[in-house]
Amino acid sequence: MTSKDQPPAPAQLVAVHGRGIVSSKKHVATADDLGFTRGDGVFDATRVRTGSDGISTIDNLEAHLARLDQSFLRLTGEHVDRDFWRELVDEAVDAWSHPGEAVLKLMQTSGLESVQGIPLLVLSITQMSEASLAQRAGIRVTTLDRGTASDAHLDAPWLLGNVKTLSYAVNMAAKREAHRRGVDDVLFTSSDGYCLEGPTAALVVAKDGVLTTTPVEGTGILDSITQKQVFAKAEKDGWRTEYRLIRPKELAKADGVWLVSSVRGAAPVLELDGRELTTEAKLTKKICKYAGFKN
Ligand code: PLP
Repeated sequence: MTSKDQPPAPAQLVAVHGRGIVSSKKHVATADDLGFTRGDGVFDATRVRTGSDGISTIDNLEAHLARLDQSFLRLTGEHVDRDFWRELVDEAVDAWSHPGEAVLKLMQTSGLESVQGIPLLVLSITQMSEASLAQRAGIRVTTLDRGTASDAHLDAPWLLGNVKTLSYAVNMAAKREAHRRGVDDVLFTSSDGYCLEGPTAALVVAKDGVLTTTPVEGTGILDSITQKQVFAKAEKDGWRTEYRLIRPKELAKADGVWLVSSVRGAAPVLELDGRELTTEAKLTKKICKYAGFKN
């Protein structure tokens, strides 16, 4: 692809703790930042919606700050300073006026290789890509073995299960493998044959008035804020909800299967490993509404 064929870069704003808003072309990390050299740091992400009047709303900011804090605590034994983060978010969101949907990403590294305890706090707001928005209409998914058992994380906190670290190279490689196979996304499975999660999304399955997802304990999956919100709202609407290990073959008999996340909402899985799934549009509309998305 020549540079002429490249789609235009999405609008972006970057802010750094201690420096405020910086040009998104400026380098923000030093070469010995552990986040950069080792992927040793944490992040979280949510959606920002901006109206034509330039006023922005952030989805579930406090829940994302709480998870960022838990991730950092698990990684380093220290808490993040949520007030620093709130100030930086306020400053950035005030300056962001691009109408439509965007991704707010909060990144905190564990420090420098040479000097411990000087974490870098970087925030970005990036206009949502057309490709992400298009996936809300439906995705084709391949299962990929993540290579660990469904209970691998039970007594092994050093494996950083449930922690949203900056080390997402495996997740990104899995997405690239999906694209090589001609599909959109991945459902990770455990070595003992259970569904886990997507590289950037949780799994929600509907069958006969029951919503099911993968349990967090032992599996190492991320505790999804969207999935929890879907379950809380669905329960009020009369659904039963459960956390249990699911075999991929169960998905073929489900009424609906979705990969859900704070950025994408609930993307219906239309095809899994080359087999069509039956996810009714009416049901998807409901799940999206529970997730706080219109679709
Ligand atoms: N699982 C993984 C690995 C993720 O990276 C994400 C989101 O980025 C999710 C699940 C969904 O989490 P949430 O609903 O909190 O966005």
